[in-house]
Amino acid sequence: MFEVTARGRELQARLQEFMDQEIYPAEAQFAEHLADPDKRWTIPTFLEELKSKARALGLWNLFLPDARYGAGLCHLDFAHLAEIMGRCVFAAEVFNCSAPDSGNMEALVLHASDEQRERWLQPLLNGEIRSAIALAEPGVASSDPSNLMSTLSKRDEGYILHGRKWWVSGACDPRCSVLLVMALSHPEAPLHQRYSMLLVPQQTHGVKVTRALQTFGYDAAPFGHGEVEFDQVWLPEDSVLAAPGKAFEVAQSRLGSGRVHQAMALIGLAQRAFEAMLKRAADRVAFGRAIGQHGMTHQAIARSRCELEQARLLTHATASMLDRRGSRLAREHLAMVKIVVPQMACSVIDRAIQVHGGLGLSQDSFLANAYAVARAQRIADGPDEIHMTSLARLLS
Ligand SMILES: Cc1cc2nc3c(=O)[nH]c(=O)nc-3n(C[C@H](O)[C@H](O)[C@H](O)COP(=O)(O)OP(=O)(O)OC[C@H]3O[C@@H](n4cnc5c(N)ncnc54)[C@H](O)[C@@H]3O)c2cc1C
Repeated sequence: MFEVTARGRELQARLQEFMDQEIYPAEAQFAEHLADPDKRWTIPTFLEELKSKARALGLWNLFLPDARYGAGLCHLDFAHLAEIMGRCVFAAEVFNCSAPDSGNMEALVLHASDEQRERWLQPLLNGEIRSAIALAEPGVASSDPSNLMSTLSKRDEGYILHGRKWWVSGACDPRCSVLLVMALSHPEAPLHQRYSMLLVPQQTHGVKVTRALQTFGYDAAPFGHGEVEFDQVWLPEDSVLAAPGKAFEVAQSRLGSGRVHQAMALIGLAQRAFEAMLKRAADRVAFGRAIGQHGMTHQAIARSRCELEQARLLTHATASMLDRRGSRLAREHLAMVKIVVPQMACSVIDRAIQVHGGLGLSQDSFLANAYAVARAQRIADGPDEIHMTSLARLLS
């Protein structure tokens, strides 16, 4: 129904081969790296080597629909690739397609000046640096962006940025070089013109990552979700992205295709959990029968298969709508995807954990971490309720 192009199919086959030959075999190496406390917050050499290999094979910047900067694929073609990458938590980075860099690169393509592109976009496209985006703040309900309190004031041919952000994904990565930061610059202006989006070099005096946050105890090393302090940070005038007061536009422009990418990645992770559930149900015996032969497990398997396919079809439909009608007309679908997919992933992964018994909760399986990733997506990038409210408003 939602037809992939011939080029999309060819890339799927090459990506699948790369996953089988390079990514899955590297998972144990990645786990070993993280198990060493001295290395945990460093980048494993093999990751950079895999990036070089992927780039040489043309499996690079596949998410960018603008062919001047990336692969120039349509959203539907990339959606299928994002599902394949999403099966392994570090895979997307190998193809330079990982959040938050992908969304930040899209924002830079759309809004940056030539100088800003030269300084930040080019090294991001080359995979030489990483980036993060800092919107949420510990002190206020950040699902309402008009609450955000970090300030930007004019000073000495530049600006002073002051405030505290948290859940800044990727900020703990030693390669993270630039933060997109939203700050209140025009408190008297109408709501949607009060905030500016800044490009803040991470190595600026007054910028400090104070800690790495954890979700259910997982710290997402070596990328991390940072709490970041901005203590009277002086920034030159050309640090403003787009124009002063345009932060909402920049933030919005990151979201359309980004939602589809995130959703497909999560579907990939849930699909992998489902496959693990099938295998465990077939291999393990309780009360004289394979676990999969017990009626309750039939339900877990059948429901999971149905929910995965429903979520996948909805996300493909959304990608197709983005291609045909653009992000404005796809708003209903984008909201539905953000509501449906994380909840589906939580349910499927939870059932996979149940079928695995104690193993599913332990560090010997990927499932517990996968659940933490999926559960966080019901809050990250706006909690479920916000997207339900948006959808209901669009329909009223
Ligand atoms: C793993 C992870 C990664 C993240 N990465 C980033 C990042 O890279 N950059 C960044 O800036 N932020 C990031 N965030 C932050 C995230 O966007 C915020 O946590 C989110 O927007 C919610 O804001 P809050 O935590 O302040 O919750 P609050 O705004 O305090 O909301 C708390 C709860 O109140 C309820 N609620 C709020 N509004 C409504 C409403 N209108 N109707 C009904 N109920 C409502 C919801 O149940 C909601 O969960 C990340 C979060 C997580 C967990």
